[in-house]
Amino acid sequence: MPKIVYVDMDDVLVNYTEAVTFKKLQKPEQAYPQAELGFFSCLAPKVGGIAVMKKMLEHPEIEPYIATAPSLQNPLCYMEKRIWVEQYLGMEYVSRLIIIPNKGLLKGDILIDDHVEGKGQEFFKGDLWQFGSIRFPDWSAVEIELFNNFLR
Ligand SMILES: [Mg+2]
Repeated sequence: MPKIVYVDMDDVLVNYTEAVTFKKLQKPEQAYPQAELGFFSCLAPKVGGIAVMKKMLEHPEIEPYIATAPSLQNPLCYMEKRIWVEQYLGMEYVSRLIIIPNKGLLKGDILIDDHVEGKGQEFFKGDLWQFGSIRFPDWSAVEIELFNNFLR
C-alpha cells in the first residue's frame, strides 16, 4: 500500500506570508491583501517544493495530495488555488487538490503543514510534519526524511 501524503499550500508550497507582508508594505490601507483578485493565483512557489512534489508523484510507494484550507472570506481563492496548482504542478495534481476547512477529516500517513492546529491538523491521525520547524525547516529536509528514512 502506498503511503498517503498530504501537503498544505500556504507557507508550504507557496510563499503566502511573504506576499501578505510585501503587499501591506506597498499598500498599507489594504488590511487584507489576501482578499484581492489574483492574490492566490500569483503566489511564488517555495524553493524546492515543486521538485519534491513531482518526485513524490513518480514514486510508486507514495500517493501525494494537496490539502489546503480555504480563505473563507475570499471566494476567489477556491478558483485561484486550482489555477496555481495547474500552472506549477500540472493536471495530475489538480486531480489531487483537496480544499478542506477541517484537515482532521483526512485519512492518511503524513500531513506536511506549517500549522499544527487551527484547521483540524491536531486531529489528523497520521504523522504531522511541521514545515518550518527545526526538524523540517525546508523542502530539502522533507525530501531527505521522506525518501531516505520514511520509505525504508
Ligand atoms: Mg499553511
